[in-house]
Amino acid sequence: MSKTIIISNRLPVQLQIDKGNITAIPSVGGLATGMKSVHTGGDSLWIGWSGLTDEEIPEELSPDIDKALAKHGSSKVNLTAEEVDGFYYGFSNRTIWPLFHYFLQYSEFELDSWNVYRSVNQKFADAILEEADDNDTIWVHDYQLMLVPQMVREKRPNISIGFFLHIPFPSYEIFRILPWRKEILMGLLGSDLIGFHTYDYERHFLSSVRRLLGLEVSFNEINLEDRIIKVDSFPMGIDYKKFNEAAKEHDQKGPEQRSELQRRLDMHKESAPDAKFLLSIDRLDYSKGIAKRLYAFEYFLNKYPQYKEKVRLIILAVPSRSNVPQYQLLKKEIDELVGRINGEFSTVSWTPIWYFYRSMPFENLIDLYTSSDIAWLTPIRDGMNLVAKEYIATRTDQTGVLILSEMAGSANEMNESLLINPNNFEQTADALYEAINMPLEEQQARNSILQKRLERYNVEKWANDFMTSLQLQKQKDHSYK
Ligand code: UDP
Repeated sequence: MSKTIIISNRLPVQLQIDKGNITAIPSVGGLATGMKSVHTGGDSLWIGWSGLTDEEIPEELSPDIDKALAKHGSSKVNLTAEEVDGFYYGFSNRTIWPLFHYFLQYSEFELDSWNVYRSVNQKFADAILEEADDNDTIWVHDYQLMLVPQMVREKRPNISIGFFLHIPFPSYEIFRILPWRKEILMGLLGSDLIGFHTYDYERHFLSSVRRLLGLEVSFNEINLEDRIIKVDSFPMGIDYKKFNEAAKEHDQKGPEQRSELQRRLDMHKESAPDAKFLLSIDRLDYSKGIAKRLYAFEYFLNKYPQYKEKVRLIILAVPSRSNVPQYQLLKKEIDELVGRINGEFSTVSWTPIWYFYRSMPFENLIDLYTSSDIAWLTPIRDGMNLVAKEYIATRTDQTGVLILSEMAGSANEMNESLLINPNNFEQTADALYEAINMPLEEQQARNSILQKRLERYNVEKWANDFMTSLQLQKQKDHSYK
């Protein structure tokens, strides 16, 4: 029987070790949910890093950890702290992440971290090779593992390999800056199918392949030796039903069933019924444009002073990669900006910005989504942006306005939102004005189209489309030979 092997940097489970007792708790993130239909029963295996370094895992517990993971169809790749440092915090997050998000000034090109990236990719590839048979299907995820497809292909020339990139693929002019550009492209070309969120990322990749490797590209297929590699876009969706149903349940809750956060939100709504809540939720990452958004908010309050005391910006910034220096600097910048703007504009009855630096449980995310009149998301670059889709999915009465940066991958599918260039403060301030004043019927008309689209192209469909396309590609490649 053939099986599917999914491979990503992190496993879809969290390990907890408490006094020698090990539990593996399934994660609830988008990828884990989307892969549910692919990662089922005994005919699939998920390989990845457990989140604990070798130094953190007592040797005698390693077999028990393996057993706990096996219950969830998972198997771990062991990494030392030094490997995590060079591979994850180093090459992945200080070279590829900033470069692929067009933050050239943050990209570091260190030979040492490139070497660790390569050797860790080899570790992941070896873990696959140990488990894989020739008729299995391998699905490799994301920018941490771009060399894996070729490493597996070398040893198993006939196996079926798909790769999906969850971040943008930059234009050729940016990508060419990378010293190891050819190695990365060749790594990816070990796949039979390479998927991106948008057609633009796909186009950028094909152009880099043509110009850097001189390979023949016809339409969206690449000829390499005796293989055909297909490149396509698959915009990732969300678990629409989960968000929509949670919001419906939320609507039914009586005051005593509401969370502490919801009660506070309700209190503020009651005290100022015509005031609007603006919401933004992001990881604290420079690509998300949080600092720019704060400056734009200040600009808005100065341009339209009639909205002082009438709007409140709720910012949820989720801690992320806090041992990379740029992220520490950004945290400081945002802390200071929030302090300055609140200091400048607050009145006895109004604090313009509520700032949370933490992650919130699902129930509270639903509280925020359902209570906010406007979601205001301004990434400077974002592969997709699922928060935009989640906000729309929770609007059970179809009210609410989404203001979304055109630099987010999701903007391609969300034309009915107010699309803005986050660098243009004039346009952003006017979009806020428009959102605050948008008639309810117009909000509902826009959201009903968006909801239908999101419901249809949900995350399960995304995963199934990718797998179907991979299977077809393999058949086609065989018949061509
Ligand atoms: N999210 C979360 N906890 C939080 C805030 C957000 O789990 O406290 C989730 C959110 O629901 C969304 C994801 O984090 O599914 C963020 O995905 P997105 O594509 O917007 O950005 P990314 O962080 O992947 O760049």
